[in-house]
Amino acid sequence: MSTHVIPAAKPLIGDDERAAVDRVMRTGVIAQGPEVAAFEGEFADHLVEGRSCVAVSSGTTGLHLGLLAAGIGPGDEVVVPSFTFAATANSVALTGATPVFADIDPRTFCLDPASVESVLTERTAAIMPVHLYGHPADMTALAELADRRGVQLFEDAAQAHGARWQGRRVGTFGTFAMFSLYPTKNMTSGEGGMVSCATPEIVRSVQLLRNQGMERRYENEVVGFNARMTDVHAAIGRVQLGKLDAWTEQRRANARFLSEHLENVVVPFVADGAEHVWHQYTIRVEGDRDAFAAALLTEHGVGSGVYYPIPNHELPSFGLTLDLPQTRSACDEVLSLPVHPALTPDDLERVAAAVNAVAKAGA
Ligand SMILES: *Cc1c(COP(=O)(O)O)cnc(C)c1O
Repeated sequence: MSTHVIPAAKPLIGDDERAAVDRVMRTGVIAQGPEVAAFEGEFADHLVEGRSCVAVSSGTTGLHLGLLAAGIGPGDEVVVPSFTFAATANSVALTGATPVFADIDPRTFCLDPASVESVLTERTAAIMPVHLYGHPADMTALAELADRRGVQLFEDAAQAHGARWQGRRVGTFGTFAMFSLYPTKNMTSGEGGMVSCATPEIVRSVQLLRNQGMERRYENEVVGFNARMTDVHAAIGRVQLGKLDAWTEQRRANARFLSEHLENVVVPFVADGAEHVWHQYTIRVEGDRDAFAAALLTEHGVGSGVYYPIPNHELPSFGLTLDLPQTRSACDEVLSLPVHPALTPDDLERVAAAVNAVAKAGA
């Protein structure tokens, strides 16, 4: 066995990021300022077809503020997947609204429009799909459903910077969409989030909520938060944005290699019209998934991750009993393999050989 462990994720921070931080530190302006404004404009042009973007302190905060700006609050229901990171439903609950959990399409791991339709009620105010693992949700069917039933559509695009659905960028479908800039995501600012907004009203509302409800200093118009991004973080994000396309191409090449070389496991499906950005490369292991992951690590030095082992509705924080069979089996079977752009050709061969060996041994 080779000596180094291949990690499941690896943020790439280089000299340019360090130099950008230093440049901002030398200006003396380090809280939200011109770097944040520049980052918002560049992100908008590069990733969401010029839609206005508002930078905030985290992805979770971006969801929370986007929901509030869209008018979501007590008495409302927002349909979300249960198979996602807890921040999706948490942000709904934090507004005082109720997250309503729907099941996923077993092939794409994203919200199943038929399951969404089955949980709509008079109180449903919105549907918030997650573009999980970097694979876009079926935005054609979800937008049609939202239109037909007169509810809003939002997007949790935390994992999907640059993905497209039927040629159109994710982050341009919903009233708002959120991109996370956490270190393990496809690009990072350290911590941070970006909210892509459909209308000037949503832009202004998210901006107000981000800064204590103030546009003009000490003239607070609404009750708001301190959810600002700093110029130091924005400077890192701007450098990363410039590298994102090359990294995405590398993720795609890595995913192609794995799908061509893996045997005896279920490799990821890509829907027609989906341009996947491979935040995760996720296989299904029928059998003892956790033993499979342990064997990859201890016998072959290959890291992997389970995103996510527990359906969100079953977490102690929600504590619900629901029948979501596809969510259940995904939680039991998924295993994400290294696909990040820091992998070398040797690493990739090691990952494929390790998975094939463990699958063959029938772990
Ligand atoms: C990471 C993530 C979030 C939250 O983003 P943070 O920047 O960590 O707050 C929300 N939803 C999904 C699907 C995520 O993966």
